[in-house]
Amino acid sequence: MIWYPYEQMKTMKAPYKIVNAKGVYLYTDQQKRLIDSISSWWSVIHGYNHTELNHAIEAQLKSFAHVMLGGLTHQAVEDLSDKLQSWLPGDLDYCFFSDSGSVAVEVGLKMALQYYMNQGQTQRTMVLALEQAYHGDTFKAMEIGDDEDYHFVLKAYGKSRYVIHIPTEIQALEKAFEKYHQNLNCFIVEPLLQCAGGMRMYDIAFLKRARELCDQYGVLLIFDEVATGFGRTGKRFVSDFVLPDILVLGKALTGGYMGHAATIANHKVYEGFYDENPAHAFMHGPTFMGNALACSVALKSIDLFEKQHYLSKISNIEAITRREMEGFSDPRIKEVRIMGACVCIEVYDAHTIKGYQQFAYEKGVFSRPFLNYMYAMVPYVIKEEELVKVLTTMKEWFITS
Ligand SMILES: *Cc1c(COP(=O)(O)O)cnc(C)c1O
Repeated sequence: MIWYPYEQMKTMKAPYKIVNAKGVYLYTDQQKRLIDSISSWWSVIHGYNHTELNHAIEAQLKSFAHVMLGGLTHQAVEDLSDKLQSWLPGDLDYCFFSDSGSVAVEVGLKMALQYYMNQGQTQRTMVLALEQAYHGDTFKAMEIGDDEDYHFVLKAYGKSRYVIHIPTEIQALEKAFEKYHQNLNCFIVEPLLQCAGGMRMYDIAFLKRARELCDQYGVLLIFDEVATGFGRTGKRFVSDFVLPDILVLGKALTGGYMGHAATIANHKVYEGFYDENPAHAFMHGPTFMGNALACSVALKSIDLFEKQHYLSKISNIEAITRREMEGFSDPRIKEVRIMGACVCIEVYDAHTIKGYQQFAYEKGVFSRPFLNYMYAMVPYVIKEEELVKVLTTMKEWFITS
C-alpha cells in the first residue's frame, strides 16, 4: 500500500493514474488528457518523454547506470561538474552532488557550520532564515523552514534556539545581523520567490543588502535555488544577480527525470576544508550522489536550456501570463502575483478554491492548489494556446463558482 505525500490517508481522494506522458500532457487510465500546469512539482521544464533527454539516459545506460563516488569517478559526473563550474556565476566551482533537494540543503547547512568549526569559531551555531521559508522535509531543513505542516515538531521540541526567522524586510534583516552576527554561520534564503511558502515574491534589494551584511559580518550566504533555479523567476539563476557563497540546485537539474541535486560552494568555502587535517574534511556521501544516469540527463537538460533559448521562452510565458491576467479580479482574491514562469492567485479564504482541482481536471488541466494558493508553474515548452487554456481555467473557476 502506498503512503502518499502530504495526505491524510483516511480522507484523501484517489490520485489520477497516469499511463503515459508526452510534452506538457499527462494521459490517465480514464483516457483523459491533462496539461500539467505545475510541471510535476516544478521540475519537468522540458515536458515529459523528451526524445533527447531519453536518448541521453539510454546512451549512458549502455555503459552502466551507477557507480559510487567513494573511490570511483566517471565521465558523466566529471562533465556535469565541469559544465556547472563554467556555467554558474562567479567562483561557484565546487559541486557536491546528492539525491534530493532536501539533502542538498542539509549539505549546505552542514558545510556552513563546519566551515566555522574548522576555524575554531565554535560560537557560530545559528542560522538566519526567512519567515514562510521552505527548504525541504528532512529534520534540519524543517527546523530552518517555517512551514505550518511541521508545527508538531515545535510542539515536541519547542522553538529552536539555533534558528532566527525574519520577514523579507531590510530593516528586520539589519536588526537580525546587528543582534546575532557573532553567532550566525549562515543566512539561507529562497531568493526572490518563496514557492512552497505560498509563491511569495520580494525585491532583489533585500538580497543585495543581505550580501553586504554577510560580507560585513563574515556570515555565509546560501541561496536555495532548488525551485527558483533554471529560469523559474525569469532569471537563469537569481545567483547571476546576487552571488551567494553556497548555491543549492535540485528539481529541474535533471529536467525532472529523476531525483538529483547539487550543493555548489565557492572558493572561500572550499578552502575552509582544504588542509592537512583529516578532521577538517567534509564528511558526507549520499549513496547515489553523482548517479551516472542523473548526470547524463542533467547535462542534456542544461544543453537544451542554453541552445533552445529557454530564457526567451520564459519571458514569453511571463508576457502571456500578464496579458491574460490583466484586469482580472474578484472580491475573494487577495492578490495575483506573477514572476517569470510562476503565477499565483492568493485568495482570502482557502474554501474559495476548494474543488478547483476537480474543476480543472474536467477542463483538461492538472493543478494542485494548496492552502490559499491557486498557481501554475508550467513546463517551459508549453505552447501559447495551452498556456492560455491553463490561465483561462484558473479565471473561469472564479467566474463560475
Ligand atoms: C522542493 C524544495 C526542496 C526540497 O527538495 P526535495 O528534492 O523535495 O527534497 C528544497 N528547497 C526548496 C526551495 C524546494 O522548493
